[in-house]
Amino acid sequence: MEDIVQKQKQFFNTGKTLDISFRKEQLRKLKNILKEHENEIYEVLDQDFQKPPFESHATELFVLYQEIDHLLSNIDGWAKTKKVKSSLINFPSKSYIKPQPYGVALVIAPWNYPVQLALNPVLGAIAAGNTVILKPSENAPHTSELLAKLINSNFDPGFFKVVEGDAETTQALLSEPLDYIFFTGSTHVGKIIMKSAAEQLTPLTLELGGKSPAIVDQSADLSLAAKRITWGKFINAGQTCVSPDYVYVHTSVHSELCHLIQKEIRSFYGDDPKQSDYYARIINDKHFDRLANLITSENIFYGGDTDPGTRYIEPTIMTEITWDDPVMQEEIFGPILPILSFDDLDKIISILQNKSKPLALYLFSTDNSNQKKVFRNLQFGGGCINDTVAHLGNTNLPFGGIGNSGFGLYHGKTSFDTFTHPKSIMKKSNWLDIPLRYPPYKGKLKWLKKLTKFL
Ligand code: NAD
Repeated sequence: MEDIVQKQKQFFNTGKTLDISFRKEQLRKLKNILKEHENEIYEVLDQDFQKPPFESHATELFVLYQEIDHLLSNIDGWAKTKKVKSSLINFPSKSYIKPQPYGVALVIAPWNYPVQLALNPVLGAIAAGNTVILKPSENAPHTSELLAKLINSNFDPGFFKVVEGDAETTQALLSEPLDYIFFTGSTHVGKIIMKSAAEQLTPLTLELGGKSPAIVDQSADLSLAAKRITWGKFINAGQTCVSPDYVYVHTSVHSELCHLIQKEIRSFYGDDPKQSDYYARIINDKHFDRLANLITSENIFYGGDTDPGTRYIEPTIMTEITWDDPVMQEEIFGPILPILSFDDLDKIISILQNKSKPLALYLFSTDNSNQKKVFRNLQFGGGCINDTVAHLGNTNLPFGGIGNSGFGLYHGKTSFDTFTHPKSIMKKSNWLDIPLRYPPYKGKLKWLKKLTKFL
């Protein structure tokens, strides 16, 4: 690890990454590599958790292509040195902000979108002029192996290197003197990463998870709400950091919504989703067991079938759920949807104000005052009105959590900013040197007070 990090420091110090055309060239190269190996990528995602090629393209490759194009079109402007107004107190001078890369960035990735969540932060790091070490998740081993093969055989390891491994490997990397750490994963491991970063005061971003609610009021277009909740919940078999974790629906439409979601599950995946080509599997036995244990038979409204051999969990709706049930104690991160009901939106707001701040929140409502109330009074990373998950498709919207769901932002301009240190510089002129600031101060205080009135 020491050797890898040292090589990257040496590469960074050559100044090659300061050249914008070098950064663009690397981004284009990465896009070409992905394009040339699309089928292999679908293949490894299928091997890791039977991810359907449509979802692999839409949620992994398309997102990366879109981000690369956006960065390529904008880096020149973002990387420019910007002049700012100078202060009178420093007269005569000029002031400017020079966007500078941090140096060696470590990106630590999760397994659930194992290509996109590994490479998306890397794009920002490259665009901003850093060198990058990527540690993919060991829980998607085929994808991790392919990423290592594609990157390590095409890029100078001093500039971009994939290091495969588990927690121990990550710890070894973290003990090296890094310049930036970008972590995506669980809140529990996020705290461990932050402690390691604190040892060397390395700046970091934490993209974490949490229980993201979908609230459906009595004014909602229920059919559309059901379709969009079903899509956002069961895409990737529910293993999505921003999927609606649970639904809070108004009592008057609770039964109708449950039946509509059931209908949508059937229309998306057929009567037996196990036979569907469009439904992914759970990533490993540990997560399968954890999820299977959350399904309590007395609460199953629909679904509930499981198969440990293929790590299949049927899209499942659970009702008659309270906050005391096991399924409400932690982020579900799987295809289980508890549907709770409410009578009074204000009460739901006050309940949610006392829970951890989630990564996302979705409100299905055509009532403007309810929309305003929810979005003004609740804190969460980001979200949608009348949709789920889709806000991630807009590169102009910063993505990131708050509180337990993390801190720091990326996507589009915010990716560039995250991996950039805005260096502030003042250039003083030598033709005038006002003596007021220098000691001895005898008799100068009254002049200072007079002068500061005009500043
Ligand atoms: P995880 O925290 O278990 O692992 C993430 C990464 O950390 C992996 O690369 C892993 O090797 C490494 N790691 C694990 N233990 C470590 C340790 N002790 N020390 C150092 N490194 C360690 O997360 P996961 O299971 O891969 O992903 C699921 C979680 O990630 C969920 O909570 C989900 O909500 C969250 N997530 C968040 C986002 C987001 O963008 N905010 C996206 C996807 C997933």
